[in-house]
Amino acid sequence: MYCPSCHTPNRLDPSKDPQEARCGKCGAPLTPAGPVVVTDGTFDQMVLRSTLPVLLDLWAPWCGPCRTIAPILEDLSRKYHGRLRVAKLNVDENPYTARQMEAMSIPLLLFLKGGTVVGKLVGAYPAHEIERALQSVL
Ligand SMILES: [Zn+2]
Repeated sequence: MYCPSCHTPNRLDPSKDPQEARCGKCGAPLTPAGPVVVTDGTFDQMVLRSTLPVLLDLWAPWCGPCRTIAPILEDLSRKYHGRLRVAKLNVDENPYTARQMEAMSIPLLLFLKGGTVVGKLVGAYPAHEIERALQSVL
């Protein structure tokens, strides 16, 4: 694939997580920024075994505060692209993981490092609060 910043062709290493791929020439992240959608089926690989720290958003479409913080999470995923994975899990569609992560009340933001939850925020927080909590995993 071509590097989005310097347009050098790069080959992706299939054994590595594509979200962490960087251009061999300029070091820019090769994959587009933005939150990734995770499910019960991909949670283990995308979140628990991620080598990047993860900000996990447990949300549901009917939850107003979840919609309020969605743009904040998009901004953070762009700002910390290549250093952090922002993942979104719909608790209605993925009850198994929602139960595992004890998502009694949403929005629930979990901060994970090496597959371990090291911080959490329950409810809709302003951007600067979320970003401050994020520093614990970066
Ligand atoms: Zn490049």
